[in-house]
Amino acid sequence: MVKVGGSLGIDYDAVCNDIADLWLEGKKLVLVHGGSAETNRIAELLGHPPKFVTSPSGYTSRFTDRETLEIFEMVYCGKQNKGIVERLQRRGVNAVGLSGLDGRIFEGKHKDSVRAVENGKVKVLRGDHTGTVEKVNGALLHLLLENGYLPVLTPPASSFEGVAINVDGDRAAAALATELKAEALLLLSNVPGLLKNFPDESSLIKHIPANDVESYLEFAQDRMKKKVLGAAEAVQGGCQRVIFGDARLEKPVSKALAGMGTVVS
Ligand code: ADP
Repeated sequence: MVKVGGSLGIDYDAVCNDIADLWLEGKKLVLVHGGSAETNRIAELLGHPPKFVTSPSGYTSRFTDRETLEIFEMVYCGKQNKGIVERLQRRGVNAVGLSGLDGRIFEGKHKDSVRAVENGKVKVLRGDHTGTVEKVNGALLHLLLENGYLPVLTPPASSFEGVAINVDGDRAAAALATELKAEALLLLSNVPGLLKNFPDESSLIKHIPANDVESYLEFAQDRMKKKVLGAAEAVQGGCQRVIFGDARLEKPVSKALAGMGTVVS
C-alpha cells in the first residue's frame, strides 16, 4: 500500500516510474494520493481560499464547506487522480482511478461540525463535510487487483448516508492496508521521514517500535500527526511495516521498501 501526499516538492514522475517498474515485475500495489498544495492553489484562484482549523487537542484540518468540497473533488479526483493514472498508463500499467465515494471504497461517519480554536477561544463551526474512514470496500479492490488493474485512490470518502466527506488520506490508506493485509504501508511525502527537530533533515528518526508509536506523536507537528496516527492504526491492525519515506527522490517506493526513511516495525 503506497500513499503519496500532496505537498510541494513531491516528484510524481519518480513515484509513477518506480510503481510501474515494480508492478511490471509482478508486485501487487495499491496507490492512494493526496492533493493539498494544488487544491490550495486552485481554491485561491477560484476566490474561495482554504480555511484551516485547529482542534483543541492540536490537530489541524481543512474546513470543508460544500464549495470547498467541490473544489477539492475537482483537484483530487480530477487533475491529480487523472494525472497519476495517465502517467501509469504511459508506462504500460493499466491503472484505474477511483475516489473513496466510488463503490464506497472509503466509508465513514459524517462530522457536520468541528470544534476549532480561534483567537484563544473554542468555537463550533457547522457545515463541515469531513469524517474518518471506518470501513473500506476490500472486495472491490481484490476484484481490480485480481484482474490486473492497479487501483489509484483518493479522498473524498462516502458517509454512511452517501454524502461526500473529506477524510485524511494517510488514515484512509492505513485502514485499507489493514483490510488488504498489506505487507507494508508506505507514507511518502516531502520530508525524509519523521524528524525529531522539524525541519532539520539530519534529525531523522530511523526506527519506531510498533508497540510505542504514540509516544512519537510529540515530535510531529500539524499534519504529520495524522501520519503517525495512521502508522499506529496500521501496525495495530496487523500491518508489519509502516515506512515514512521521501517522495522527492528517484525510486522513492523502492527506497522506502528497502528501509530508507522512518521504519515503524
Ligand atoms: P502530504 O500531503 O504530502 O501527505 P502533509 O503536509 O500531510 O504531507 O505532512 C507532511 C508535512 O508534515 C511535512 O511537509 C512537514 O511540513 C510537516 N511536519 C511536521 N512535523 C514534522 C516532523 N516532525 N517530521 C517531518 N515532517 C513534519
